[in-house]
Amino acid sequence: MAPASLLPQTYPKTQFEKASSLAAPMNRLLDRVASDGDWLTKVLEGSAASDPDFTGRLLSLHNKIRKKTGPQSSKARLGVIRSDYMLSNSVIKQIELNTIASSFGGLSTRISKMHAYLIRRFDLDFEGRRQPENDKLIDSLAESLFVAHEDYLSKNGIESAVIIFVVQEGESNTSDQNILEAALYSNHGVRVERRTLQQIFSEAKADDYSKILTLNGEDVSVCYFRSGYAPKDYEVETDKAWKARETMEESRSVMCPTLGYQLAGTKKVQQELERDGGVERFCEDEEEIRRIREVFAGLWALGEGMTKEDKKAAAEAMVSPEKFVMKPQREGGGYNFYGQQIKEKMEEAGGAENLDEFILMERLEPPKQDATLLRGGRVEGRGPSISELGIFACIYVSEDGEEMVNDYSGYLLRTKFDGVDEGGVASGFATLSSIVL
Ligand code: ADP
Ligand code: MG
Ligand code: MG
Repeated sequence: MAPASLLPQTYPKTQFEKASSLAAPMNRLLDRVASDGDWLTKVLEGSAASDPDFTGRLLSLHNKIRKKTGPQSSKARLGVIRSDYMLSNSVIKQIELNTIASSFGGLSTRISKMHAYLIRRFDLDFEGRRQPENDKLIDSLAESLFVAHEDYLSKNGIESAVIIFVVQEGESNTSDQNILEAALYSNHGVRVERRTLQQIFSEAKADDYSKILTLNGEDVSVCYFRSGYAPKDYEVETDKAWKARETMEESRSVMCPTLGYQLAGTKKVQQELERDGGVERFCEDEEEIRRIREVFAGLWALGEGMTKEDKKAAAEAMVSPEKFVMKPQREGGGYNFYGQQIKEKMEEAGGAENLDEFILMERLEPPKQDATLLRGGRVEGRGPSISELGIFACIYVSEDGEEMVNDYSGYLLRTKFDGVDEGGVASGFATLSSIVL
């Protein structure tokens, strides 16, 4: 059994509504950022140079392909996005925007159902609060993949194709992925093939001229990544893994996500968008800018491009490190630095100016609620816990720029004991939960 909370947590309704109504504007911002390859390159150059084997390779591959096939805006792109928030002084603040391998859409649907069952079965009352609807989450994710699939078929005059789920070797979170795979087949009759990057290298090829991607001779409409976000995904047969990514990205198939989306989801980009003029570069609507900025937490650059404010924050982090989180350009949980570790890392590097691959973020202190957490199907404990709300939203923009999908899909709540710094479920820190409003 997946790590789970026994019962839902209460959540302020206005804040939940704010988070879900920001789904489409956040996606649109992401799409615009991802389409501005020059800005992405400028912003990520420092991190890429300090982290050449991962961020550096992603960026250089992105730029190599951009030179060959033109800007991202000329290609179809699909995002299954999860924007994560924590409450801070009763309002939501964004932790991060996940643009690759956003997980737990499948299991979250099930946890909401389990909680709904317990509420009815034991006649539980949360002072009249109710669970928001979350039944459509998995169907909505499947639907967005299907829209991209259908668009691919019609644009390329192809009758049938498979969707590739790009997975990790020895993936432990398969049940979540299987729920999506099953929904694609039962709702839409679309078949999924699961492959690692290394297998794709051997089994897939793109036609030199048409750039049509095939897997063992079968057409591929969409490549949906549940891998490719961590260095370890490329470590086995490194050249083959990167080559597979290149073949896919260069092909006509729809990438979920494109390299542009993946890079636009980095913590460095999040931090640069928070700067004066950051969001404004990509968004004209003043009300939308205000709503997006309202959920930004304090973010500061580290490394060469530090401004006066960044330096001030870094100096403060040396004195009060418990007020900050230091983050590298990584996904999947378990990589951040907290408290004393921040100081040590800065000292070890010989100063904040040498930490280009990191950013500094204000540490949020969400309210505590009691929770009983289950792990491995047994009660792990009961105690004060904090939660992180994830808002799922899909975006699909066709090659001619039509926004065919851009909607809120559903939510995920992750709950962990207070005092646990990191937050991933798969990485063993948090549990899956649901909310009552
Ligand atoms: P990842 O992409 O690896 O999930 P996150 O930015 O989500 O990276 O950080 C991992 C976890 O660390 C989060 O789930 C959250 O629990 C905790 N965390 C991240 N940023 C903050 C913050 N500003 N304040 C408090 N906790 C944070
Ligand atoms: Mg992440
Ligand atoms: Mg996260």
